[in-house]
Amino acid sequence: MSEFPMFALSEEHQAIREAVRALCDAKVAPYAADVDEHARYPQEAADALLAADFHAPHVPEQYGGAGADALATVIVIEEVARACASSSLIPAVNKLGSLPVQLAGSEELKQQYLGALAAGRGGFSYCLSEPDAGSDAAGMKTRAVRDGDSYVLNGVKRWITNAGVSEYYTVMAVTDPEKRSKGISAFVVEKADQGVTFGAPEKKLGIKGSPTREVYLDNVRIPADRMIGAEGTGFETAMRTLDHTRVTIAAQAVGIAQGALDYALGYAQERKQFGRSIADFQGLQFLLADMGMKVEAARQMTYAAAGKSERGDKDLTFFGASAKCFASDVAMQVTTDAVQVLGGYGFTRDYPVERMMRDAKITQIYEGTNQVQRIVIGRQLLAGVQSQI
Ligand SMILES: Cc1cc2nc3c(=O)[nH]c(=O)nc-3n(C[C@H](O)[C@H](O)[C@H](O)COP(=O)(O)OP(=O)(O)OC[C@H]3O[C@@H](n4cnc5c(N)ncnc54)[C@H](O)[C@@H]3O)c2cc1C
Repeated sequence: MSEFPMFALSEEHQAIREAVRALCDAKVAPYAADVDEHARYPQEAADALLAADFHAPHVPEQYGGAGADALATVIVIEEVARACASSSLIPAVNKLGSLPVQLAGSEELKQQYLGALAAGRGGFSYCLSEPDAGSDAAGMKTRAVRDGDSYVLNGVKRWITNAGVSEYYTVMAVTDPEKRSKGISAFVVEKADQGVTFGAPEKKLGIKGSPTREVYLDNVRIPADRMIGAEGTGFETAMRTLDHTRVTIAAQAVGIAQGALDYALGYAQERKQFGRSIADFQGLQFLLADMGMKVEAARQMTYAAAGKSERGDKDLTFFGASAKCFASDVAMQVTTDAVQVLGGYGFTRDYPVERMMRDAKITQIYEGTNQVQRIVIGRQLLAGVQSQI
């Protein structure tokens, strides 16, 4: 008999879910509506996550982190998203921003920056997108030019989550314009570096508590040893990072969908029409059944993808893109159906499901749109990548 339960969470993973859910019930969920209403940073959640060491759970123990595996990290993000999608961007983006350092950085960079992140000295953002380089990220224009023992960075990064709040930024920049994606390198830039400034917060449809801003790099001079990996490997590191972190967006989507399903289930049993609870109507039960099926399928796929992320399996690219694409489409469908279950009340800001529906939309867009995910999935299939389940 294997010491691991077959297709079930270990006791440790279940315990993590219980701990995060309790923390979110007490310190995240009560502020979610206010955070959305005022488009304000979820400081209560940030403080609570940091105090419980859930702010960047993926950082290995050797750098002072909690050492959560990919599945445990996914469970943390899922549970926070169930309560407040904006707050779930704190552990998610701390992983996204710092994973390039963890995957490809020198030991010195890991000690310094993963250590600072784990200790709560600052968050980590990821700067790939630009105003004219979104899906075609390799078309970026931000330049990094070597000058003695330094690099000098110039350019504009757009849509950067937690920009201005984070202390540390992984910035992808062109070091050799002749080589397109092979001429891109990754660097750690600090908020305190001279020449780093931020644009006004974007006014968004959802995840309103998660600041999204431009990052301006104006002659930012940094030591050459802040390059992550070798020159010209930045784009590959950026894509390798996304293979892993798309699983965390899938988890965010599952959490948002679960939050909406839970609310709809409770409401359907309370609300009476025609002298009966609306949950008694088979038409509504079928709607709830579809919601439940989809959420569970998305969760299972996300957890399978998390296992592949942890092991670094060959089919991670397929699974990361598939889990993100499937779970985010599910989140959009399920949150829209949750609004339907609440009828007219679901359409108002007095109930949380319209917020969840607005929050779900972003999961179909960032870390690559779902069109881009389908391109990735199609290429993997045509290249003969088989599921190794
Ligand atoms: C709230 C928010 C937070 C974000 N956070 C970050 C962050 O922290 N760091 C970061 O680097 N980026 C971040 N992004 C950027 C995000 O990843 C991009 O918005 C996304 O990759 C899409 O790029 P785009 O907006 O330029 O759209 P475009 O690339 O212009 O796409 C427009 C449409 O065309 C479609 N399309 C494009 N190319 C193809 C194709 N080849 N085939 C079929 N359809 C195609 C797209 O699917 C989309 O529907 C964030 C974005 C938002 C909105």
